[in-house]
Amino acid sequence: MIDTRALPTELFIGGAWVPSSRTTRIDVLDPATGHAITTVADATVEDGLAAVSAAHAAFPGWAATAPRERGEVLRRAFELITARVEWFAELIARENGKAMPDARAEVRYAAEFFRWFAEEAVRIPGDLRVAPGGATRVLVQHQPVGVSFLITPWNFPAAMATRKIGPALAAGCTVVLKPASETPLTAYAMAALLAEAGAPPGVVNVITTSKPAPLSAALLHDPRVRKLSFTGSTAVGRHLLREAADHIVNCSMELGGNAPFLVFDDADLAGALDGAMIAKMRNGGEACTSANRFYVQRGIVDRFTEGLVARMGAMVVGPGYDERTTCGPLINPAAVEKVDALVKGAVAGGARVLLGGTRGAGCFYPPTVLVGAPVGNAILREEIFGPVAVLVPFDTTEEAVALANDTEYGLVAYVYSEDLKKALAVADRLEFGMVGINRGLISDPSAPFGGVKESGLGREGAHEGLMAYLETKYIAAAW
Ligand code: NAD
Repeated sequence: MIDTRALPTELFIGGAWVPSSRTTRIDVLDPATGHAITTVADATVEDGLAAVSAAHAAFPGWAATAPRERGEVLRRAFELITARVEWFAELIARENGKAMPDARAEVRYAAEFFRWFAEEAVRIPGDLRVAPGGATRVLVQHQPVGVSFLITPWNFPAAMATRKIGPALAAGCTVVLKPASETPLTAYAMAALLAEAGAPPGVVNVITTSKPAPLSAALLHDPRVRKLSFTGSTAVGRHLLREAADHIVNCSMELGGNAPFLVFDDADLAGALDGAMIAKMRNGGEACTSANRFYVQRGIVDRFTEGLVARMGAMVVGPGYDERTTCGPLINPAAVEKVDALVKGAVAGGARVLLGGTRGAGCFYPPTVLVGAPVGNAILREEIFGPVAVLVPFDTTEEAVALANDTEYGLVAYVYSEDLKKALAVADRLEFGMVGINRGLISDPSAPFGGVKESGLGREGAHEGLMAYLETKYIAAAW
């Protein structure tokens, strides 16, 4: 078991652990019990600006470091995490609540971003062309954008951090990471690990705060900060885009989702159920990619519903760090309130509960299946972010596509059909940044992750993820 007293809990600025000037601290709670695991420093605006100073001072040296060397730091970080999967998984299970299998999967996924971007560090492209007029050459090179402010959510405390730190460091940027105050311990452990892997002081800085709004505003109004990469809710993303506008800060936004999961009559039933369980229940439904709305064609709906109720009903609810658990607690009481209100609102609107539907003690909410929620009900419009599946039957492909697209979100959609021609045609018409065809899990460090509409701007992972931390410079030359 992790010795929580040995965990780093001060701010990580300029390669040192420093206390905040604010004397009060942030409690880190175990969602399974509501008890404090430990406390972490609570950064003030001045602490945040000190982190920017450290990142700014380290930037020229890191940007000039050979790409291979930057890649080697990330490669060592990948190896260090991989050697400590169990340790990180337990830490995540304790502060976030997710079940150990989900926590282990997250740690491996998080490590892969470091491996992928270790490889990308030496693949920064350039271009040399002759202009159409023939007189000049068009020389295009890419340079690191600069000090990058990274804000991450609590639902993937390791992977959302590495998905940003990996490409930033590969590109030659230095970073200030502000993790969610619910799950700061994984972020601080990651900072320690990166230092161990050889990241020089100031290249990676981590600060936690109970007052993210004023701290973020100050950083986004500091001209030394040139990049914001945010993962979190659409509401906060919208607010940060406004803050970033004053200094035209380069922004990447990974925001909320409301994923439709389409099952056609010709789907492989067992495959669709396997995919549904991953898409719905990974992290107990607390994922931006979580299937929110299941649209199931009339000919398969009864068998699919029966199968989903059986599988959801077989899940074991308990503390994430208990090895028997397959569905942990939600992150905090507010999250339970939200899920509970959505389910009650759906039932009031005419939905029937086939499984679960009644909140448990503390932060626990049981796997729940609903049918008959009316079109337009809040449970079909809002991100549920909990273990609740809502099933809606459909008749035609036209109807399914229209229902799926009827949302301001556009992160991910899932399609199950054995007819690949039809599935690809449907994928073309889905207004989402990502589509899983006969796959309930689309997250992959080598693939461009991101949404359209109000689900975000830009992509993380893949080569696109590296380019998000690079500016294009065009040099006109003649010789
Ligand atoms: P959130 O928006 O409440 O918080 C995200 C981060 O923003 C946290 O670090 C939080 O402290 C910080 N924050 C909150 N208010 C802020 C403010 N006014 N100024 C600056 N920072 C502020 O989201 P959450 O509840 O932590 O995470 C859940 C949300 O994240 C969901 O909507 C989910 O879909 C989304 N998410 C998206 C992706 C993606 O890749 N698209 C991945 C994971 C989570």
